[in-house]
Amino acid sequence: MNNKQITIQNLEVLLKESIKNHGHLCPGQVLGIRMAILGLNIINIKDPKGKDKKSLIVFVESDRCLTDAIQSVTGCSLGRRTLKFFDYGKVAATFYNIPQNNAIRIIAKEEAKEKAKGYFPSIVDKYKAQTEAYKIMPNEELFETMTVKVKLKPEDMPGKPLKQVKCSACGEYIQDSRETLISESNFCKPCSEGSYYILQQTEKTFFSDTVVHNSQNELIVKSKLWLEIKGEPIFGRGRKQLLLAIAKYGSINKAAKEIQISYKKAWSYITSMEERLGVKLVDRYVGGKDGGGAVLTNEAKEFLRKYEDLEEGINELVNRKFWRIFNV
Ligand SMILES: [Zn+2]
Ligand SMILES: [Zn+2]
Repeated sequence: MNNKQITIQNLEVLLKESIKNHGHLCPGQVLGIRMAILGLNIINIKDPKGKDKKSLIVFVESDRCLTDAIQSVTGCSLGRRTLKFFDYGKVAATFYNIPQNNAIRIIAKEEAKEKAKGYFPSIVDKYKAQTEAYKIMPNEELFETMTVKVKLKPEDMPGKPLKQVKCSACGEYIQDSRETLISESNFCKPCSEGSYYILQQTEKTFFSDTVVHNSQNELIVKSKLWLEIKGEPIFGRGRKQLLLAIAKYGSINKAAKEIQISYKKAWSYITSMEERLGVKLVDRYVGGKDGGGAVLTNEAKEFLRKYEDLEEGINELVNRKFWRIFNV
């Protein structure tokens, strides 16, 4: 038998190669290889690293062990755009035959872990037992498969980038239509949705070396955000502080004192917000040693969370655009 063939008979050969890439032997390597063999078989891909190289795209849904094994067997890679990563946190992958337009999604069954124990009861180490069992368990016990249709846009396909635009906020270039159009300007994802990194203050000098950093009169940008319904302000910084203070003190009275407004004013803020938003934000109760108190409802906490999300995104956008334009 040709030892390049993607078949279960070649499992050990494929495993050896995948361990070399991944760095260790683990249940995920065996499972990933089994998944890839099954997937390729179903979509009629025989030679993924050779003549079928341009016919295959694999979508992985986790960035754990299994993904390396799938990559090793299929030869698909992020850089060649034949491996697509979706951060779903699931032990699943989809194998897509481009010319035949058929795709199969395979997910590892959770019960397989438990069943694996039964195959090698003498092996004490759980992971060793799983590793050995996954080599011989039937596909039906390991996986669930489903036929799917895959949505792939021209800009997601392998090949040269189809277009490139400049982000209006940070000035960095964006390939492959990953930009967002907001009032006729293009924004990159970090600028429009927030990103995994935070630009450190000191790196501002990167944009320009002409500004003298003087802590007394350094130019900074401020922006104000509030929510309105029909021209009536509903929520902004002041009301956010009120809700946060209620959460902190468990009392409207103490919260009002903290943000220096009258109890009456605090009360009217709360009732008007509740009325206009149509949800209860604060639960008031009587009794207890303090003679009653107030807590935020889950709706209020959720609302605060969303508002803070929005605030953070807007601040980042404003800061970046400011740095870009003013070169500070
Ligand atoms: Zn591993
Ligand atoms: Zn940007």
